[in-house]
Amino acid sequence: MANPHPPPVIVVGAGLAGLSAAYAALLAGAPSVRLLERAAKPGGNSIKASSGINGAPTRFQDVAKYGVDQSFWDDTVRSAGSRLQASVAEPIRNQRQGLISILTNRSASAIDFLADLGVDLSVVAQLGGHSKPRTHRGAGRTPPGAAIVTTLLAKLKEQGDRFELVTEAEVTKLLLLPAPHENSKAQPHPQAVVVTGVEYRLHNLDTTQTLHGPVVFAPGGFAGDTHGLLSLHRPDLAGLPSTNDPRPAAHTLLSAAGAKLVDMESVQVHPTGFVDPANPQAALKFLAPEMLRGEGGVLLYRGRRVVNELATREVVSRVIMALPPSAAADDEDHVGDRLRQWDVQLLLDPGTAEAAAGHVVFYLWKGLLRKKKVRELDEVTRETLREYARVVRGERADGLGRVAFGHWTLGVAGAGDIDEEAEVCVGSVTPIVHFTMGGAVFNERAQILSSELGEEEKPIQGLWGAGEITGGIHGDNRLGGSSLLECVVFGRIAGEQAAQSALKAGA
Ligand SMILES: Cc1cc2nc3c(=O)[nH]c(=O)nc-3n(C[C@H](O)[C@H](O)[C@H](O)COP(=O)(O)OP(=O)(O)OC[C@H]3O[C@@H](n4cnc5c(N)ncnc54)[C@H](O)[C@@H]3O)c2cc1C
Repeated sequence: MANPHPPPVIVVGAGLAGLSAAYAALLAGAPSVRLLERAAKPGGNSIKASSGINGAPTRFQDVAKYGVDQSFWDDTVRSAGSRLQASVAEPIRNQRQGLISILTNRSASAIDFLADLGVDLSVVAQLGGHSKPRTHRGAGRTPPGAAIVTTLLAKLKEQGDRFELVTEAEVTKLLLLPAPHENSKAQPHPQAVVVTGVEYRLHNLDTTQTLHGPVVFAPGGFAGDTHGLLSLHRPDLAGLPSTNDPRPAAHTLLSAAGAKLVDMESVQVHPTGFVDPANPQAALKFLAPEMLRGEGGVLLYRGRRVVNELATREVVSRVIMALPPSAAADDEDHVGDRLRQWDVQLLLDPGTAEAAAGHVVFYLWKGLLRKKKVRELDEVTRETLREYARVVRGERADGLGRVAFGHWTLGVAGAGDIDEEAEVCVGSVTPIVHFTMGGAVFNERAQILSSELGEEEKPIQGLWGAGEITGGIHGDNRLGGSSLLECVVFGRIAGEQAAQSALKAGA
């Protein structure tokens, strides 16, 4: 007999993965979707994404100039690095490559899906590690993460009663039952379970509730869980600030259902996050993008340069983190929560500041950069700048190996001293955690698995996952623009699968 009350699809987390899953589930005919979000507002870290979303080959790429883009898969495999080397066992490689195939093969359709909803993705840029321009964003001022999130939210709200977003609702547990055995003669897998719903706590009412239905789990990564999961898997990074919202990771909820985790030690660290002088101990920091160094900016520790500023992120971060960290804040109440950061100065000369003017104006307004006359700098710094000008003028090689100087102009004209009245921009920066590659082992149908990567797949029934919570796609290193993409590609798959499950339960 048909169930008169088919269950809702339950989506955990209202970032891009959760929103994509929710919308796809409704398009696939799910009777209803309940989206549970821990924070007061939806959007997660997705809403902050600023570079864009990858896709290839798409209608927005310039085929006349660059040819048809068929190298996305190769670029992604190259970026995954050692995790896909020939020496890695074939079943593991196959599973990783299968996920990459889904990601890249469905990227064009993900871009079409968003563009057809009305998101402007007409500008295509080339980011590091990509062999062609394929990172899409809009032509206006709205950053791509915000444009995509707000469009999807608006579309979801048009669905009326079929869709409900509950904010300040933190999922605390997956509800489990022992899995039924399809073949009564087969030996049951001792830990096999079915996920039947979730338990969640409403922060504003301080009550706990349960909800039954197929679950799409999309609570994001663990870069913002600096004293928790990050310190467990990367003790060397414990206490580092982050570009991600500070929040506890939800991975342990999956582990309790038997899910396996993979690549948890693969974490992207960015060498330069701004330390806000108004709140130096803030765990959440703005990125000081690489472009500021590329256009000419230098990094100083106690007035001296310590690294080739254009070396890879890993090298620059490693050199900074080998320096003595800055003194901890004098706050007895937060001894265990203290951040580990370094007191490095980012200095932009007038040429660099002009070349990066669009960004610099914003950082000056936020108080993250300050203007200073050269004569106001200490003597060690001024001597460093004189030495550096000699390097830029080509009179000597840089002892740290920098060979490109962007738009640096200070002390370059003439053979003399630096202009003491020139105005430079200075800000404090420190390494920050940006993205976590690792997460739950999952398959091409976005099912969360209780088997290790490369083993025979054991999907946990009733449970799908998408976004930064999942692992195995990016390997050692995620390509810029591919995390928004994984949210859309696997979010849509997870939503469709969960919708079918809800419909089956109602049949
Ligand atoms: C500053 C910045 C810039 C970036 N720029 C780009 C870019 O240009 N391109 C790109 O591809 N990637 C970019 N990234 C990375 C990308 O934004 C993220 O990896 C991606 O958006 C993660 O999406 P998600 O949906 O998995 O998680 P999130 O967007 O973080 O959403 C997860 C949501 O789940 C909620 N949640 C967590 N736990 C629970 C729980 N227990 N119960 C209920 N809800 C819960 C959270 O509150 C959150 O709202 C950037 C990241 C940052 C921080």
